[in-house]
Order: sequence, then structure tokens, then C-alpha cells
Amino acid sequence: MGKFVYFFGGGKAEGSSALRPLLGGKGCELAEMTNLGIRIPPGFTITTEAWAEYLRHDRRVPPGLMEEVASHLGRLEELLGLGFGDPAKPLLVSVRSGARVSMPGMMETILNLGLNDRTVEGLARRTGNPRFAWDCYRRFLTMFGDVVLEIPRKAFDEALSAAREKAGVGTDAELDADALKALVATYEGIYEGHGRRFPQEPKEQLTGAIGAVFGSWYSRKAEEYRRIHGIPHDWGTAVTVQAMVFGNLGETSGTGVAFTRDPSTGERRFFGEFLPNAQGEDVVAGIRTPQPISALQERMPKVYEELVGIYKTLERHYRDMLDLEFTIQEGTLYLLQSRVGKRTAAAAVRIAVEMVAEGLIDRDEALVRVDANDVNRLLASVFDRQAKGRAIDEGRLIARGLAAAPGAAVGHAVFTPEDAEAWARRGEKVILVRSETSPEDVAGMYAAQGILTSRGGLTSHAAVVGRGMGKTCVVGCGDITVDEEALEFRRGSLRVRQGDVIALDGETGEVILGPVATKPSEIVQVLLEKSIAPDDSAIFRYFHTIMRWADEVRTLGVRANADTPADAATGVAFGAEGIGLTRTEHMFFKPEERIAIVREMIMAEDHPARLKALERLLPMQREDFIGILRVMNGRPVTIRLLDPPLHEFLPKEKEVGKELAAERAKRRRNRERIAELEKTLDKLRALQEANPMLGHRGCRLGATYPEIYEMQVRAIFEAAATLVREGMRVEPEVMIPLVGTQGEMRLMREAAVRTAEAALAEAGVQVPYTVGTMIEVPRAALIADQIAREAEFFSFGTNDLTQLTYGYSRDDAGKFLPQYLEKALLPEDPFRVLDQEGVGELVRIGIERGRKTRPDLKVGICGEHGGEPSSVEFCHRVGMSYVSCSPFMIPIARLAAAQARIKERRGA
Ligand code: ADP
Ligand code: MG
Ligand code: MG
Repeated sequence: MGKFVYFFGGGKAEGSSALRPLLGGKGCELAEMTNLGIRIPPGFTITTEAWAEYLRHDRRVPPGLMEEVASHLGRLEELLGLGFGDPAKPLLVSVRSGARVSMPGMMETILNLGLNDRTVEGLARRTGNPRFAWDCYRRFLTMFGDVVLEIPRKAFDEALSAAREKAGVGTDAELDADALKALVATYEGIYEGHGRRFPQEPKEQLTGAIGAVFGSWYSRKAEEYRRIHGIPHDWGTAVTVQAMVFGNLGETSGTGVAFTRDPSTGERRFFGEFLPNAQGEDVVAGIRTPQPISALQERMPKVYEELVGIYKTLERHYRDMLDLEFTIQEGTLYLLQSRVGKRTAAAAVRIAVEMVAEGLIDRDEALVRVDANDVNRLLASVFDRQAKGRAIDEGRLIARGLAAAPGAAVGHAVFTPEDAEAWARRGEKVILVRSETSPEDVAGMYAAQGILTSRGGLTSHAAVVGRGMGKTCVVGCGDITVDEEALEFRRGSLRVRQGDVIALDGETGEVILGPVATKPSEIVQVLLEKSIAPDDSAIFRYFHTIMRWADEVRTLGVRANADTPADAATGVAFGAEGIGLTRTEHMFFKPEERIAIVREMIMAEDHPARLKALERLLPMQREDFIGILRVMNGRPVTIRLLDPPLHEFLPKEKEVGKELAAERAKRRRNRERIAELEKTLDKLRALQEANPMLGHRGCRLGATYPEIYEMQVRAIFEAAATLVREGMRVEPEVMIPLVGTQGEMRLMREAAVRTAEAALAEAGVQVPYTVGTMIEVPRAALIADQIAREAEFFSFGTNDLTQLTYGYSRDDAGKFLPQYLEKALLPEDPFRVLDQEGVGELVRIGIERGRKTRPDLKVGICGEHGGEPSSVEFCHRVGMSYVSCSPFMIPIARLAAAQARIKERRGA
């Protein structure tokens, strides 16, 4: 058996940051702080390897571990001059969980362990404070019963409220020693009532607690949290056993949580909350609404100053914004935790930029610090100020709480996490309203647009977890009463019931009845609407700086998928360097009159009739392309020729059948209409396919109806010629979909070139252009060397490629994918996150073989994956020239591309 326990205390620690996987975040930061000379209570950390042993022993504390623990406990006793279980001078400890990455509140912690009927008396004598001793004991009994013996916490909480009522006091802090002693007796009764025995022997308590904390890795809430945040299930948790310090020893004691910068805006100011005469769990659980950190400055200025000094030291050491837990015991400050703090997207960007200016980090570090998805969050809408003003004038302001995480959320009020999930599954937007949230609520919080609580502060569970998820959050809204049983909340005589729409302003904390119009984010207003000058928006400036740095670093190009001039313009505003995919079928659908012509083209009896319809479509397509090429002003534009099967443009068979039946049933039948409908029905049946996704589409359509592609290519080059004659530069790239053989590609290329040359010759101008293909059929990737003889560029269509590689129909995968994810048969939805192992292997092969034939082959990606950070990183690694994604995802792609480059450089 290896070493399972690492000690910290007496000014030095065995662990350090390098041991994070072994000691977990908490254990490692405690060791680090000890080594920095910061005052923290001593203790020791049991490693995640011990957790793995525990797993191997059917979830039992592994043999030998407790001996190693006992010897470290001995060290602790010696250091502090106390004895574990010694009534004369009892040592009490906390038993804390700690995974490699922080999972706030998801796993268990037990405080005041070591108390029993004898040590509680000893503690009372030693401190001369019986009230305090009994307060610790009742807390311990609650936590031990709940966590180790699985007695519902509610039983203890109800007894506690009853005790408060009996004593006629409002808070736990006002209960006196006798009341607490009586409560302890009641608690012992609760244990008995549940057929459980409270172990009086501290060693037995400790073994039980260590096992329970190990086991809390598998609690439902922890599993859900891991699933949402993509944390591997096999990491496990470390356990820290640490000497207790007491914040509940009276008015010169207390406990608090602080952030070294504002986690909401990123502003550089010390920010936190503090509760006098309390233990740590009170702040985190939101049981009492805490006071701002300035209250500490007034009450205990010395302690406050010391805390400020410590936070500065820690920020300099970690070079990041930190979240701190501290406890003051009779005027002495102890740090209990420090970790990199969760923050909003706006704060992430601002902190990264400002820390570069402060010289704490360099640009590369700033770029990797910002989560690529965060830059997208910054583009989300905010409330329209006038609309909100009107709502308030109308008397719709229900209450004002603490603004915990920004955003503009509008949705139906729901009161349980289950309802939040159920409503969200139906496609409804919801706001989860709770008196306070607990880790059990995490999945419901994730499903909601926003979270509203009546209790708890800016560092409560709701605030911390909501912020991490990017949800709008208003907490501690004491003016409302949340009745979770009745599924409503009240403010005076006003009742808001389940399903009623409310709006939350995460910037101001306002809670408004009914919907409020939203408007685009400041960044969108600067970049797209140009209604705000760049210099007038601080958020824009930070965003812009990060984006500029990203562009300087990245080598991967970023393009937009855009089917209209408006989308193309949005793409350019967000930084697109070209268009990677213009889908021409969308242009066939709208406006209304076009679809009629398209149908005419499909229904055409013979070739000349089809040509006539195509001739009418030609000028329309030409205008489409002129629009897009003009916006792109010389940047490359990849235009994909028609892809979907023709029946998609006809009305649905059921509808036609219905209309036909109705028409036939009429007294005065419209013969012409009947004949027309019959013809449509015939055509629909003729075009019908058992498997349209694998059917007559893409270049297969181009091979059988060459006149369609001919029209499209002609439209492209007439458009190009028009613009060139205006003096503009254009760079069209004609893209053939769904190619699987070299022959197909040759046929398509030759036809396209012939048409392009003819159109250009007629116009008498020169236009540089290329003809390439989408690689989306696995066979094309495998014979990419042959395809590249014909194709001048590749663009990986990873939506179809994923579909065809897995053999999952994109249209039907919804039936089983959710279950697959739940059962961990797939790590991620492969249509969202590129499957690097399988689909990615085809991409690699495709690029390698394609470049064997054509070393300078331009390669891109145009599937949904082009805007997903891990997929973008993959694209960089395999040597693509660019990624293309929807316009609003472009900032993600730019940042993710920069991060990929930095990662590569650092690895080298
Ligand atoms: P979490 O990971 O959920 O934050 P923690 O292990 O940090 O759980 O513990 C919960 C609360 O108990 C925190 O507020 C912490 O400050 C407090 N706490 C933990 N250990 C001690 C200790 N040794 N002395 C006093 N308070 C403690
Ligand atoms: Mg903590
Ligand atoms: Mg496709």
C-alpha cells in the first residue's frame, strides 16, 4: 500500500499544487496556503487513490487506511496539544470532500466531529461557553445523521424550528444553552426513531464520516453536476480531515466568503459576505442572509486588514481571481479554503484583460483563461430599458433581490427542479423559484433561464452555481414568500402561481410580473446595430481586446455559414474572413413566389418545360449571389449547389391527399385543380424514397438533372461578372455536395467549369474561382487522393459525415441519443461535439490523402462543429485552413482557434 495521507500544519505541508489529482482542489490549496505561511487550521488529506481503493473494496474504507489516519491524527493532537475523544481537551475535526475540480456543495462535509456526550461537556468547560458547545453538538448530530446514517435532514430541521418557536426567537443564534441541550436530546430520539445508533466513539465517527464523504462522489447531485460539466466519473474525491476552528464562539467570531474581484462584473474590488457568530455552512447554505464584507471592516478592522493582505498575497501567487472561505475565532482569522472563483462571462473577459495590464499574466494566459463559450454568452440579449421602465410604471415590479448573475431572463415560474426540467423539455422557458437552492436542484437550474430565491446571499449556492452555469440569478429576495408546496410565491396580496410569466433582471435584481421585451446585448448593439459607439461600451472594449489578441495568435481561419446577405454581414461584423457555406436550397423556399416556380420545375413533364422554369429562377438566384458577394467584398465565398432531395420542395403527401379529397367532395368540383393535385400526388409518389437521407440528393441530383446545377453555376458567374464590372473583387468557390466517387466529381467539375467559362466569356470578364467538394460521405474521405485530382478544395460536412459514419439518422437520433448519453454509451452528442476518434479519423485521412495529391489543398469544415471549442481545436490540430460556423458562433471559433494554437505551442 502506498502513501494515502498527506499532512499540513505547523507552517509546512507535504502536498503542493502539483499533487492536485491526488489531493483534490481543496487539499492542494490548503497545503499551498500552509506553505505560504497563511494561518489555516492544520490537518491532513486522504488521497483520491485511497478513494479508488475504497471503490475496489465494495465501497468500504480500505484496510490499513485507518491506521495511517490514526498516526496522522496523533501528529495533529501533538501539534495542538489536544486529544481526539479526550473530554479534558477535546480535538474536533471537520471531514471535507474535495475533487480535482471544484464541485461547490455537491459532495459532503461534516463539521465538529469528535463530539459525544462526554466531550461536549469538556468543550463547554474548556471554553466556559456551554451554549457554544451544545450548538456544535447539535450541528454535528445533524450532519452526521444526514450524511453518514442517511436520516432525512428535514427531521432535524423541523425539530430546530420547533425549538426556535418554543423559545420565541427568530434565529438559531438566539437559542440558549438549555434550549440547545434539549434539542440534542430530541435529536437522539430522532436517531432512535430511524433505527440508527449514534456512535459515541470518535474513531468510529471518523471511519463512518470518511466512508460517507468518499461515497458522496456518487450522490445523485454530484453525478448530475459531473454530467453537466463533463467531469470524468472516475476521478473520485479526496478527503481532508482538519482541526476545527469556531466562528460560533460569540460576537468576536464569525465566518465568511469573499472574492478577490467582483465575480459578476470583474471589477477590481474586494467583495464578500460575512456572518457574525456562525459556522461556515450557514453562509453557503443561505440560512441567514449575511452582511457585506464592509461590516467586517467596521466590526474588526484589524482582521479585515489582515484578510485584505492575504487576498492580495493569494492573488499574486495564483494570478487569478479567487474565492476564499474564512472563519474568525475570537478575533483570530483563519483561512479555510481558496480556489479559483467562478465568474460570469463578462467578469471572465474583464479580469483576463485587466490582469494582463497589471502584469499578472501574459496574453496567451489571458486567452486560455476565458472559456470560449463565454464570449458567446456576452452576445445574449438584455432587457430593453424603456420596456422595463414601462413595466415598472405599470406597477409590475414585484420585488427587488440581490443581483447575483447578470442576464435578462423571461419565463414561466416553476417551483421544483423536476417541473423546471419537464417544462423545458416541452420547449418552454422557465424561471426556477425556490426559497433557496440546494445541490439537489442543479439539473433544474440548468434547465431554467433564470433562478430566483427568497433567501441567501451573493455567495449562496444559487448564486455560485447559477453564475457558473451562466444563468440569470436573483437571490435573497426577502420581500417574497416562496411556497414550494402550493407552487406559488407571494408578495403581500399578490400571488404568482406556477406557469405565470415573470422576468428577472440579473443586473439590478428586479423581479417583474409578466414579460418584458429584451434587446440585443451591448456588443451586438456596437457591432451590428451600431447604436452604441465602441468607446461607450466597456464590455465591448474588453471583448474586443480579447478578440484582437485571439486573431493575432491563431493560424486557423474563421468563416461564416451564411445563406443571406444579412447573415453574411453579421458574419463579417463578428470577424468572419469569408463564407464557408452558402446553402442554396434556402433561397429556393422563400419568398413565396419562388417555391411555386421551384415546384413547376420539379413537376415539369419534359426537359424543355423544366428549362423554362429554371430560366425564371436564374435571375432570382443571380440577385441572391450578387447580394452575398457584394457584402463579402472580395472575401472568399463558398457556394454549395443544391443538396436536398426534390420532394422536400413539394407539399406533404398527406396535405395534398386531404385537399384532393375535399375538392372531390365538393358539389361544384374544380376539375383543373383536381387534375393538378392528382399530378402532384403522382409526382410525390414517384419521388418518394424509403430513406431520403441516403437517397436522390446532392450531386446525385446534379448527375440526373444537370440543368439545375447549370442554372445555379450560371447565376453565380453572372453575379460575379456584374460585380467585377462594378470594379469589385469577388472570389466564388463552387462546392459540390455529397460526392463519393472520383467520377462524380469529374462530371460535376467539368460541367461547372464549362458553364462558368461560358458565362464569363459572354460577360467578357475574368473571375478567379475554384470548384471543390464537400467531404461528407465516408468513401470520399477514404479516396480523398482521387477526389483531390478533380476537386480544388475540400470542406468537411461533418453533420452528414457523422450521420453516415455512425449510421445514425440525424432526423431520428433524437429517439435514442438522450438515453445513450444517460447510459454513457456515448460521451457527447456526436452531432454537437465532433467525434475525434471515429469521424475525426476520417477527417484526418481525408486531409492527408487529399494533400498527397494536392499539397496546397485548402481544407475547411462547415458542419455545426465549426463553432464548438473542442472540435475547433481538433480542426487546428489536423491542419485545416479554416472553420466555418454560424455568425453568432464566430467569436467562439476565433477564441477556440487561438487557444488551440497556444496549447500546441506550449506542448512543443
Ligand atoms: P464545500 O466544498 O461544499 O465548500 P467545505 O469543505 O468547504 O465544503 O465545508 C463547508 C463549510 O464548512 C465551509 O464554509 C467551511 O468554511 C466550513 N469548514 C470546513 N472545515 C472547517 C474547519 N476545520 N473549521 C471551521 N469551519 C470549517
Ligand atoms: Mg467550501
Ligand atoms: Mg450534407
